[in-house]
Amino acid sequence: MTEKLSACPICNNADEAFYLEGKDYFLTKEPFQIVECRTCGFRYTNPRPTEESSGKYYQSEDYISHDAGKNGLIPALYGIARYFTLRSKFGIVKRYSPGNSILDIGCGTGEFLNYCQKKGYKCTGVEPSEKARTFAETNYKLDVKTDFLNGLEATSRFDCITLWHVLEHIHQLDKTMMKLTHVLSPGAILIVALPNSNSHDASSYQEFWAAFDLPRHLYHFNRESLIALAKKHQLSCHKILPQKLDSYYISLLSEKYKRGSANYFNAFFHGFLSNIKARVPQIGHSSEIYILKHKIS
Ligand SMILES: [Zn+2]
Repeated sequence: MTEKLSACPICNNADEAFYLEGKDYFLTKEPFQIVECRTCGFRYTNPRPTEESSGKYYQSEDYISHDAGKNGLIPALYGIARYFTLRSKFGIVKRYSPGNSILDIGCGTGEFLNYCQKKGYKCTGVEPSEKARTFAETNYKLDVKTDFLNGLEATSRFDCITLWHVLEHIHQLDKTMMKLTHVLSPGAILIVALPNSNSHDASSYQEFWAAFDLPRHLYHFNRESLIALAKKHQLSCHKILPQKLDSYYISLLSEKYKRGSANYFNAFFHGFLSNIKARVPQIGHSSEIYILKHKIS
């Protein structure tokens, strides 16, 4: 079941233009459309699956783990990339967070929080998938809630909240943003990692760009639209950091969607070029990490 948004999720203007039509290359092969707001330029999937019916688009072992127990170059590369990103993610938290309480939304099986926990951080997770949540609770003894909007104690506050490639999946965008700003402690940071639909690899692969990930990705942010959303919720952007490995991984997957098989040379070329072209501020990297803060702090 789908729903049609009557207005832009950021600026509420109803005037939208067709942007592109893509497919759920990953799972169902169903077609979906992306539109662009004529007022603020925000790109979003419209129509989109309703929150209640979106479960079927996540019914794949691949989507939960991406790598565990899989053979082949893409899962192997993803595994290596994850090892390095785990350390670099913690490095960012350590550098920018004013304290040691952390909330990771969409924590999955809890690898990142477990890393933080070992470094002495007080960790809380949110994960709607029961299977992933149980794994995190059992194996890493983490405190993982089912639902962010209703699952936290009223007095909970955090020095750092992370959403690693999660915000683009969330149906209730404004409610979630409001709740996020509410549970940040004074001086706290909100870390949001997202694919960037202005990046060179997005422009090269167009409807085959793997990070459109239709219909799981409901929003297709770029720097301008993420900063507009932050501003709407009284947050300011303190820093934008690149996720340079993502351009290679996304290009490899995009090659597979476009040609039916992965052309490693093309993928490497586009991944490399994407990181070079990212120097232009209006373009940016394939995926980027935003460090947001309350405007008053
Ligand atoms: Zn708009």
